Amino acid sequence: MIRPDKHGYYGEFGGAFIPEMLFQNVYELQQQYEKIIFSDDFQRTYQSYLKDYVGRPTPLYEAQNLSQHYGVKVWLKREDLCHTGAHKINNAIGQVLLAKYMGKQRIIAETGAGQHGVATATACALLNMPCQIFMGEKDIERQKLNVLRMKMLGAIVTPASSGSKTLKDATNEAIRAWIQDPQHTYYVIGSVVGPHPYPDMVALFQSIISQEIKTQLQEKGYQYPNYVIACVGGGSNAIGAFYHFIHNPITQLIAVEAAGEGIHTHKTAATITLGKKGILHGSLSYLIQSDDGQIFEPHSISAGLDYPGIGPIHSFLYEQKRIQVLSATDQEALEAALELTRLEGIIPALESAHALAALKKIPFQQNHSIVINLSGRGDKDMNTYQNVFSYE
Ligand SMILES: *Cc1c(COP(=O)(O)O)cnc(C)c1O
Repeated sequence: MIRPDKHGYYGEFGGAFIPEMLFQNVYELQQQYEKIIFSDDFQRTYQSYLKDYVGRPTPLYEAQNLSQHYGVKVWLKREDLCHTGAHKINNAIGQVLLAKYMGKQRIIAETGAGQHGVATATACALLNMPCQIFMGEKDIERQKLNVLRMKMLGAIVTPASSGSKTLKDATNEAIRAWIQDPQHTYYVIGSVVGPHPYPDMVALFQSIISQEIKTQLQEKGYQYPNYVIACVGGGSNAIGAFYHFIHNPITQLIAVEAAGEGIHTHKTAATITLGKKGILHGSLSYLIQSDDGQIFEPHSISAGLDYPGIGPIHSFLYEQKRIQVLSATDQEALEAALELTRLEGIIPALESAHALAALKKIPFQQNHSIVINLSGRGDKDMNTYQNVFSYE
């Protein structure tokens, strides 16, 4: 387990760097979130949604063919089997439920590829909350199916038409909407990023992943895994998978970043590998930026990893040498996705394929047991797979 200090710092990383107009609102959230989410009443409701709505616990599957191929024991944590197809729903339901407990009347969020937008719109439909999702105009064009899903779920999708018309512009619009009506509005953030208390809160909601892994391994007669491997965009599925193993030095924790076309090409999203310390979206962490602090436009074939920052928890764990950071290129992720599909009959999300690609990069011993967090399913990536593998 890992918690920040009361100002939201993990070592020197984190904090809450926000516009003055939001002080009151964020302060209210900081004061209330622990009291609410640790209460018996909240936990009973939340856990029952996780079980009967999301479909938890998700299986821990021993991938026999993959294991045989690599000569080690590989377990897949099947977050791809969650309702809506990825781990994001664990957090979305937690935060929308928290908003209800706080007496908020509407939900806003921003989304890039649309996965967080869909998870939030789903939680809002479930819990009867009005929902507005901000999305860059360019992303709306690129991600039509997710826009349709959000609309069908009853959300208002508002295009952000400034700047590059992508995620960061949608974030600006969402923050503007929050400032206009902070008292009634709850802003759902989709990863372990943003000002304190969001990173802590999202990590707590996603920590169910490692809690289950630990129990499931013990049921199968294993005390601890030698490795837990996960991809990192903002870092929520990774911290969820690492959380209950952080204090056990036997388990090596591997975070896999998106190298894009390669870490030396500028078309990359390998934040820790290339980044420098800076402030983005309300917290201090590693960022991909130039010497004078300009944020680079990141690149990855997987939309969910295409983010120039990373959660402050991961920057801290990296500096503490508690996590090891690897990267996988677009090409390596595509090969790993096809390999899993052919060996196990599971089509993974492109994000998750980055974690799978790490199997080729680590010098395992034969008796090692490895858990890979399969953060999502590949349905949303079929267009990309079709273009790359050129199926008719
Ligand atoms: C959004 C997403 C990610 C990246 O987000 P994290 O916060 O780093 O987990 C990874 N995998 C899938 C399937 C996603 O949808």
